[in-house]
Amino acid sequence: MKRKLEIIAFRCKKCGRVYYPFHDRCLDCMSRKFEEVAAEGDAKLLAYTQIFNLPWGFDTRFLIIGIVQFENRVKAMGQIRADSLEGLKNGMKLMPAWEPVRQVAGEDVYGLVLYP
Ligand SMILES: [Zn+2]
Repeated sequence: MKRKLEIIAFRCKKCGRVYYPFHDRCLDCMSRKFEEVAAEGDAKLLAYTQIFNLPWGFDTRFLIIGIVQFENRVKAMGQIRADSLEGLKNGMKLMPAWEPVRQVAGEDVYGLVLYP
């Protein structure tokens, strides 16, 4: 079953820069005041790579990891569900989902999954 995305980023109240994960101080204006913003809209692929040496708990031979930017400027890293890097390119739109990404002690751990 698919779940709602649980990506909450933090927008600087002073200058508007968006952080994910949280920083306790804005790197641009040094403000400590943030408001929460949820990831919304389409996810645009900014960068991606393939990882072969996986930590324990992954049931696959390799993973493709991508960094995406949502329409409201929230950036996040997730697993791209693709068989290879062919067909992926920076700037393409991916469909985000919140799904199990690995198992730890028999429990599913949820994370960002991206579908080309
Ligand atoms: Zn700021």
